[in-house]
Parts: sequence; structure tokens; C-alpha cells
Amino acid sequence: MLQAQLDDGRMILLAAYRKEQIQFFRQAHFFCPACRKPVKIRAGKKVIPHFAHVHIQDCEMEGKGEGLYHLRGKLQLYHWLKNQGYTVNVEERIPNAQRRPDLLVHAKDGKKMAIEYQCASISDDELISRNEVYQQRGIKAVWILGGNRLKRTSTYLLHLPKKEQRFLMKLKQNLPLQMLYYCADTQAFCNVQHILLTGKKQTVGQFYFRSLQQTRFPQLFHPLPKHQQAIELAWKQLQSRTVAKPLTYAPRSVKKWIMQTYEKGYLLQDIPVSVLQPVEAQYSLSVPPFIWQTDLWLNQLHPATVGENITIAQLLYTCQKWATAIKPFAVHTNKHPVETYMEKLCQIGLFEQNKDGSYVKKKASPF
Ligand SMILES: [Zn+2]
Repeated sequence: MLQAQLDDGRMILLAAYRKEQIQFFRQAHFFCPACRKPVKIRAGKKVIPHFAHVHIQDCEMEGKGEGLYHLRGKLQLYHWLKNQGYTVNVEERIPNAQRRPDLLVHAKDGKKMAIEYQCASISDDELISRNEVYQQRGIKAVWILGGNRLKRTSTYLLHLPKKEQRFLMKLKQNLPLQMLYYCADTQAFCNVQHILLTGKKQTVGQFYFRSLQQTRFPQLFHPLPKHQQAIELAWKQLQSRTVAKPLTYAPRSVKKWIMQTYEKGYLLQDIPVSVLQPVEAQYSLSVPPFIWQTDLWLNQLHPATVGENITIAQLLYTCQKWATAIKPFAVHTNKHPVETYMEKLCQIGLFEQNKDGSYVKKKASPF
């Protein structure tokens, strides 16, 4: 922890003091602000001055992943916010809760924002309980992942397993879906925006690196310019590859579904990549777009004749078996992936939306 309490009650942010002063503090008694047990000073040439419990124990402050990288980043972000005029505290306790976010920003209107700088992995339970605490108290939570977690695999590709997708962020409807990283070594942020999930670990996105000093806090959430064509191409290429080898690395449920389509006489490879479309809310489905979109075609969109109506309820029914429970907590959107997909099919002229919300088929299926 960066902060501890002196016997006289003062909270001391150790890293804010000079070397001589820290030397002087070594004679004082410090206590953990959470469990009140004694803590000792850890300071030296190579470390960020901080505190640690005298006896390792079960305390919320002895957070997992409180490595030096994390402490350094937390302190850098703290100074960065303070220098921009924000009222911000490190490790401040949330009233009536066993929770101390890395940073708590107090806005002038009384609203609060918790910033969690997460460098280590965190369990689903822990993540859910932390977010619940914030939500119940009307505190907006922003998760900034450690740069050590950023796995870029090529210009527009990012390795983003399901566990990492929990940190997808879209604070308002009109803001971009993104992942946010900060590297304490290079003192730079990385926003990954224009994210197109593929239903697999490989994820398409555009990377923006900005130094801490050149970035102001609100800019972290703004949309950044998009390389539209390159992003769409990267997504289509991944789809073609997945469709070409549909059984590779496929979980059992997917294999079963693929075998069923073969039995019905369809070859997945016959499905033109042109009908496959990326949708933002892909995270709410458990399978790649080529599975659920092909499923929609084979069960609903293809059997319909030109001029026939299809309701959204029918389409949602077909897709409900692919729904997933894991959902990013910081994404505010109410569009179901099927709705977005149908919008796109309307855009390319295959369907048209009726006034009552249903869809009418305008052209014969492209396969
Ligand atoms: Zn403690």
C-alpha cells in the first residue's frame, strides 16, 4: 500500500516525502488503515516507498498483485490526476464497505469515480463484488489494465481471452467500446478501440499509444480516428480462416452444431463471408459470428421466401442457445447482437425493416 496511518491519525503517502523525511519516519509507528495492524516502511533505491504488513495476513490492503509495477503505476496516475486539478485520493475507503479502490476521484458535483489499476488477474467473484460495491453507491468504476496484460499479436490484432473481455468498456451509448491499458514502465496509455470481437481469443482492434504527459483524463474515453477498411479486412480474414477450419479448437457444443449442419446437407464453407458481419455486442454470445449468423440463415433467413416477414422474436429464439452469462460490467448498450446483424443485412439490401419492427426479405439468399 502507498499510504498508512501514524499513531496521531495522520495518513502518510510515503512516496510524497523526501529521502531524509522517510528516514525519519522509520522511527515512527505506522498502522494499516484497514485492519489497524502494524505496517513497516519499504523504501530503497529501487522501490517506490510504500508500506507492508509486518506479518503477512489476510487483509484487503495486502491486495494480490500489489507488485512494484502496480504501485508505481498507481502513484503515477495519482500525480497525473492531481496535476490536472482533480481531487483524488489513493486507497481511500468507500464508506460502509471493505473496499479501497486504487484511486478515488471526487468530482465537483459530488460524484465519485473509482479507478482500479489492475495488473494481476482477478477472479470473477472478486470482480463482481467490487463492481457491485461501486454500483450500489453510484460510483462510476474505470478499470485500467496494466500494460503487462496487453497482448498485441499484429497491427490490428489483440489476444483477448474471455477473462480479459470482462474489462471491455463503453461508459455511454455514444462512446466507443474499448480496452484501456497503462504501462508504468513507459508511462504511456494504450487505448484499443474499434474492437470487433470474433468469438475467439483473437480480437480485432486499433491501438493508440499516448504518453501520460500528453494525455488529459477525459481524453481517455474519447473516440479516436478509425482505419475502417483495415479493421474490417482484418475481421473478414479471421472469419475466412475460422470458416475454412470450423472444427479446429471448437468446443464440443460447436462441433455438435457443425456436424448437424453437415447432416442437413450444408457445407459451412459454402456460406459466403459477405453475409458475416461484426457486431458490437458479440460478447453476449458464446460462439463466433460465423456460427450464430449461419445458424440464423439456415433456420430462419434462408427458408424464408422473398417478400416474407420475419419477426425479431423468431430470430432471438434461434439465437438464445448461444447466450452467455459473462458480460462486461462497464458496457452500456441495449442492442442485441441479432438486431445489429439485421440492421447490417438491411444496409446491404438483403432485408428491409417494416414499421412494426419485423423484417421482410428483399432478395434471394446469396448461397
Ligand atoms: Zn491491513
